[in-house]
Amino acid sequence: MHIEGWVQREAGVPPRLEPLTLDAPRPDEVLVRVVAVGVCHTDLFAPLRFALPAVFGHEAAGVVERVGSAVTKVRPGDRVAVTFGSCGLCRNCAQGAPAYCMQGHALQFGGARADGSGTLTDQAGRPVHGAFFQQSSFASHALATERNVLRIPDALPLELAGPLGCGIQTGAGAVLNTLACPAGSSLAVFGAGSVGLSAVMAARLAGCAPIIAVDVLPARLALALELGATHALDAREGEVVERIVALTDGGAQFSVETAGAEQTFRDAIDCLARLGTCGLCTVPNLGEPFPFAPLSILKGRTVTGVLEGSSVPDVFIPRLAELYLAGQLPYDRLVTFYDFAELPRSLADAEQGRAIKPVLRLA
Ligand SMILES: [Zn+2]
Ligand SMILES: [Zn+2]
Repeated sequence: MHIEGWVQREAGVPPRLEPLTLDAPRPDEVLVRVVAVGVCHTDLFAPLRFALPAVFGHEAAGVVERVGSAVTKVRPGDRVAVTFGSCGLCRNCAQGAPAYCMQGHALQFGGARADGSGTLTDQAGRPVHGAFFQQSSFASHALATERNVLRIPDALPLELAGPLGCGIQTGAGAVLNTLACPAGSSLAVFGAGSVGLSAVMAARLAGCAPIIAVDVLPARLALALELGATHALDAREGEVVERIVALTDGGAQFSVETAGAEQTFRDAIDCLARLGTCGLCTVPNLGEPFPFAPLSILKGRTVTGVLEGSSVPDVFIPRLAELYLAGQLPYDRLVTFYDFAELPRSLADAEQGRAIKPVLRLA
């Protein structure tokens, strides 16, 4: 079918809206008319890392338009959020850990379906990489799999549903699922973007204390305090580790790293108490090597990677939606809306820190 999508042809150049042809749904696939789509950190660096030309975007919300012959989970007309892909067959999927699907890297970043087939072609009939997070939703329509769509509560506005599929569940899940921070435990959150602030909101729900947010932007630190942080540290004032240790009686029990800088990576480990655990939601320098002294881990500390907040989306996303509707997870405070035509501006605003969670709305 004919759709419109934002095609990234070169890194460092804004994507362009182009007419494209999208495959019809296979038996296990779901065609979603995109109503709104969030911009996430991964969309910003994707052009530097993955094969081009490509359509990115992985926080879609919309209405099911068509379903494949084997799909039973959703029907045309259902309001859905679209999340990350998972195979459903591997060891980790089978054990309830689809965020760590053994095929996850290929499914999110391979630019194709699980079997390697493409989904998009341009006007000249040339292939365009699609299936980014099994959706490629910077587009009028997204082709998802039955596994990565889920119905959302009727009361949740579609324009807010998309970010639950990645950024919000990553931060909230880091605290509630991966680290499972108990009530009363101390937590330091590095980076007060959408993932970090979601971690702060979840920590308030979990009863963590203190909850220490670290960033370099005063407006974000102020927002962190409104959303549940008990302390907000401006990293530009220095001595971040010392100040956290002083606030936590010898070191934090948990930390969450979302800023992706070498300094925050080190600080998120060094601020921990003995036996403390750090959840890494991102890495510095696009994952390139950098000097690091592992002696800092040799205090019984644990450093663990966090993908998608260790979420089981069919269970966790509806729960997050209900928490939002109950006023317990006000992540709408992070959102700035843009028209679909404004994707390049929204990407620049996210990159420059002018917007925390851009959401594009389609007419
Ligand atoms: Zn799997
Ligand atoms: Zn994301």
